Amino acid sequence: KIGSYGAGTSRPSSLNFEEIGGQDSAINELKEALQFILKPEAIDHMGIRPLKGILLVGPPGTGKTLLARAAANYTSSAFISASGSQFIEMYAGVGAKRIRQIFSDARNKAKKQNKKSAIIFIDELEVLGAKRGSHSGHMEYDQTLNQLLVEMDGIAQYENPRILLIGATNRADLLDPALMRPGRFDRQVAVELPDRFGRSKILAIHTRNKPLDKSVNLDEISRATFGFSGAHLESLANEAAIFAMREDSPTIQAQHFREAIDKVMLGEKADRRPSL
Ligand code: ATP
Repeated sequence: KIGSYGAGTSRPSSLNFEEIGGQDSAINELKEALQFILKPEAIDHMGIRPLKGILLVGPPGTGKTLLARAAANYTSSAFISASGSQFIEMYAGVGAKRIRQIFSDARNKAKKQNKKSAIIFIDELEVLGAKRGSHSGHMEYDQTLNQLLVEMDGIAQYENPRILLIGATNRADLLDPALMRPGRFDRQVAVELPDRFGRSKILAIHTRNKPLDKSVNLDEISRATFGFSGAHLESLANEAAIFAMREDSPTIQAQHFREAIDKVMLGEKADRRPSL
């Protein structure tokens, strides 16, 4: 559909930072940056340039989308999200039109919901924000990125609603340097794979509503899951529950988690097979 970027706005944004495990330093940095929305008067008083964009950088499945949703909740902002790939079309001008559309949708949504600010979240930013000229002659990509830059420059200091862009990428190196200039994505927040303690927290979050057997030790599981992302751990908890159900077990046992670890690891390997 021309002009539609297929934004995923149906999910509720009532998600708290407490429901995101193992990202304490990212959450602190993000919260600090969000003061720009929470305390606009203080920012103006100090003569600080308003913050227009925050970039979340890190591997897939580490909680970047969750962080953006929690940021909207924390600041009582309207939330609108899209993926970079939704702006890329072969027809000239369509991507640029979709960029204009998401900004105007964000403003309208905030007004409708009586909110003073709106957060626009763009996942896979590298798809639309890659260095200009890198798509070997695809002018359409460049036009779309140019439109994003125009819209970011057009965010006004005293605008009501205030607009904040949160971008997410796992390839910051691919981004056009113009996106990083002052007044664009001024802040970068690293969202790393969780360490052992982070993994344990994430497991606790995703097993909260599951009947765990006494044999299950989340610390032990977190030690055995080096390199797992939050998304892997969510999937692990789910798979363990499926193994338990298959055996008609009323609770999820340590053994089910062991089987699930193998399954998630195998799935990961299958995903990495080169596509022919
Ligand atoms: P991508 O780069 O692939 O878009 P992402 O970093 O945005 O990934 P999310 O979409 O936020 O990752 O995470 C996917 C799912 O994995 C979440 O819905 C959640 O269930 C789980 N998850 C990921 N990270 C965490 C975390 N830190 N704490 C709790 N759950 C997490």
